[in-house]
This record gives sequence, C-alpha cells and structure tokens, in this order.
Amino acid sequence: MTTEVLYRKWRPSLFRDVVGQELVTTTLKNAVSMSRVSHAYLLHGPRGTGKTSTARILAKAVNCLAPKDGEPCNSCRLCLEALAGRSLDIIEIDGASNRGIADIKGIIEKMQYSPTQGQFKTYIIDEVHQLTSFAADALLKTLEEPPPHVLLVLATTEPESIPITIISRCQQFSFLPVSTTAIANRLQIICDAENIPAEPIALEKIAYSAAGSLRDAQNLLEQASLTVGASLDATNISASLNIDTDIAALDLATSALRGDVASGLQLIHATYSQGRDTRRYERSLINYLRHIMRISSGATHDQSYTEIELDRMKSIAHDYSLSEIHSTLQIFTNSINEQYEEFPTLGLELALVSSSLQLSKEDEPAQRIPTVTTTIPSNDLKANYPGPITEFISTDEANPERESRTETRADIPGSSPQPKITDTSQEIINSWNLLTDEFKGQKGKKKAVDLGGLLRTSQKQEIMNDELVLIYKYASNRDWLLSELNDPSTRAKLEEAAARFFGVTKVKAITLEELQLRKSHPPTAGHLVSLAQQLGGRVINETPTNHITKE
Ligand SMILES: [Zn+2]
Repeated sequence: MTTEVLYRKWRPSLFRDVVGQELVTTTLKNAVSMSRVSHAYLLHGPRGTGKTSTARILAKAVNCLAPKDGEPCNSCRLCLEALAGRSLDIIEIDGASNRGIADIKGIIEKMQYSPTQGQFKTYIIDEVHQLTSFAADALLKTLEEPPPHVLLVLATTEPESIPITIISRCQQFSFLPVSTTAIANRLQIICDAENIPAEPIALEKIAYSAAGSLRDAQNLLEQASLTVGASLDATNISASLNIDTDIAALDLATSALRGDVASGLQLIHATYSQGRDTRRYERSLINYLRHIMRISSGATHDQSYTEIELDRMKSIAHDYSLSEIHSTLQIFTNSINEQYEEFPTLGLELALVSSSLQLSKEDEPAQRIPTVTTTIPSNDLKANYPGPITEFISTDEANPERESRTETRADIPGSSPQPKITDTSQEIINSWNLLTDEFKGQKGKKKAVDLGGLLRTSQKQEIMNDELVLIYKYASNRDWLLSELNDPSTRAKLEEAAARFFGVTKVKAITLEELQLRKSHPPTAGHLVSLAQQLGGRVINETPTNHITKE
C-alpha cells in the first residue's frame, strides 16, 4: 500500500533535479536556452525514471517568462500555473485511455488553436505505444506538419512498439534505469529534509529493491517509514519490505528450470499467502534469471548481489543450458506482463507451467531448434539448400565444462531429413530472438537504422511454404525493411541467418492485412499474385507457389 505523497512532493521541478538522466536534461536545457527546441520529442525508458517529470519541466520552460540558463524560473505567473497543474497550454494525455482514432483526431483539431498564454502549447502523450495503428497514423500526419505553436512530447516504456515513421520524426531521448547509488543519494536528501531517521544501508536496500525506478524507491521509503515508525536500519527495513525474502524467488527459478511444476506452484502459493508483494517477487525472479543468463553466457555479473545469491546463481547457471535459461526467462517475462487483477499469482503460475512444458519439449531431440554450425557462403545457399542439416544448436560454448548437448541428426531414429521449424511455437520466438540479436547494432545501408531493431518491429513470424514470413502491423516498417533488403549483402546475411535458425532460405515481409488475404486466398489461385502486382509487387521467382516481394 503506497500513498505516493513523498513521490508527488519530491517530483523534480527543474531539469537539474531529475535524478540520473543528466545527458537528457542537459541537452533539453541547452535547447531551451538557445531557443532551439524541436517540435517533437520521444522520451523512452523504464517506468519511474523521470520521463513525465522531464516532459512537464520542458513544457514549463518553453513558456517561462524568465528562464535561467534553460531552466524554468518556477516563480513567474506561467510557471506557477504549470506547477499548480492549471496551465491551459500544457495538455497531458494518457495514450492508454485515449488510444482510438476519434480521441487523437479530437486532440489534433484542438492543436490548431493558439496557446492561451504562453508561446507554446505542449501536448504530453504518455504510453504512446498504446495508440491504435489508425490513431498512430493520424498522429504521424501532425508530426509531419505540426502547427508552429505546438510542442509534442511522446513518452513510452515500449519504443519498439511504435512505428518507425513516428520515431524518425521525433528527437529521441533514452531514459536509463537510475543507478542504485543515485537513488540512495536522493533518498538520503529526502530523509534529511523530511526528518526520517534512516541508516545509509537501509536506503541502499530500498534503492536496490526499486530496481532502477526512483518512483518505486520513494514509495517504498514512504511505506517503510510509516510501518517501522522508528529509525530505519538494515534489519527493520528488510522485515517491513520483505526485501530479504526476495531470494525465495531463486527457488521458483530452480523449480521452473527443473520442470517441477508441483513444487513451483507451492512456492507461489506460499509467497502469496504470506502476504508478500507479488509484483516485487516477480521482478526479483526476472532479475535473477537475467543475471543467471549473464553468468551462463560468460558476461561479468552484477556487483549488487550478495555472495549467497551469487553462489546460487552460479550453480544454476552451471546446471542448465543457456537455451533453457533463455526460454524460461522469456516465458516468465511474457506471462508476467499480463496482469490478472482478480488472480494476482496467475501470471506466475502460467509461466511456470509454460516453461516446464517448453523445456520437456526441448528435451525431445527431434524438437530441438535445428541449425548448422558452420557458416555457409551466401552465394552457395541456393545450391546447398534444402538439404539434410546434421547438427543441432549448441549454446554451451560459454561453459565448456558443461556436458555438451550437441547431437547429430543421425543419432535420432526416425528423424525427418528436413529440419525446418514447421509450427508457430515458442521455438520460432526463441529462434527469432537469437536471429535478431545477431543483427543488433548492425546499421542498414540506406538509413543507418539498427537492423536488429528494424527486424524486431515485425509483430509475428511464421514459417509458411518453406519461407520465413515476417508479419508487420505497419506497412511503413515493412517497406523500410524491404528497402534495406534491396541491398544484396544485407539480404544475403538475413537469408543465411534464416537458414541457420529456421532451416529455410527465403524471407518475406508482409503486413497483417496481406497475411489475412494470403490465408483466405491460397497463392495457387493466382489472385494474390495479381493483387500483389497491383500493389507494386513483381514476380521474382517462378516456383510451384509464386514468390512475391513488394519492391
Ligand atoms: Zn517562469
């Protein structure tokens, strides 16, 4: 239970008071002081890191009557109205509850009117990724030609869910999780000012538990100061916030990896019936699994864990393969994102069972993700594929002491010679993540876009007719990818990766509408071919099923 009083009271009102985002706030402050504010900004990053606060400070600064070095004065008439939340020129919109085209059109209409008092009318759209695709299209038109008095500040925790066309029209700022030290320092300032007696170690524990979110840390501090009622120290803070019990989440991680559903469900039940904060328990679990994955892959581990925790994480990393840890983490992350209000532990329960089912499936050799372990020269792809692929993926290189799980196809009786993934299971998601990871940081030839990010904007991937089909919600993202794939070396790289991860050498990008058309009109009818040709496509390869790529 949190009251958020401290959080609201200590919300920063100057750029320099925003904790841990100096790069962002200094750039914005300079833009204001040089009168070079852009017409649209996209602020993205985890929750509780200061995106909305920064947007409000910017909105105030651009209209301030006496700004100082880009900071708002907080004492002029317009600043005071903004601070009181009464400014008519600062409009805050929650993208989650105003996500339809009608909502956005209504907002855009009002943008045409001049500001009532200041120079700018600022629209802060929070959770902008929640907009429907039609609403996003309408917003895009405004971003292309905004009225000169309008400043748009979009904020999101999921930039990857926003059309690239919108992203490319905004100046982007990435908010980082706030470091434990920065959070602890801030909590110390608050405690000093509010007369909350607290030992530094207690504040560090709160900061660590808040996992990068200053808002969560402030709420935890408030909660602790109300329940403890005395000086906060390491012992009473752990008891009041159940921080030490976080390590119990490691037991659930172990049950999940072992595929032991019964003991896992008991652990979840125990956690809930002891009245622990299930959200924090979930977050600890995800965080532990993340670090186990890091340890398993040979990366350096986080210094903020205790020796006991590290020992347990190292032992788990040793006992399970990277691929098992990866798929468990992914399943938990996905399920926990789904909130079931009436059944607070359902997300965890579903994740536990899904990961156990997935791991037992992975244990059947014929179901393992097939891949070749040698690089095939891209020119030879057509000549070499499809052909028998003889080895399965091995993810154990980072841990040479672990028993290698590499098996040869010949060892498996009755296995089919075509090691293609044929269904839309978790395997496709796993392989897709591994594939896109390979493209992370690689720049496209046309627009210097991150190819991994561009690939990841596809909503779904399917294997259809021996092709890897990338399904895009937005035609603009699909077209962007296709323009990058016009470059033969980029295309060859992608096809080579598709061969390794999916056992197919053709890659196609289509929109959701095209997918529906394709499913309702099988390509052999010729209908889709003519439709695609009307859309500007051309037949590039005559096979029993026509292969079309929009150019
Ligand atoms: Zn002012």
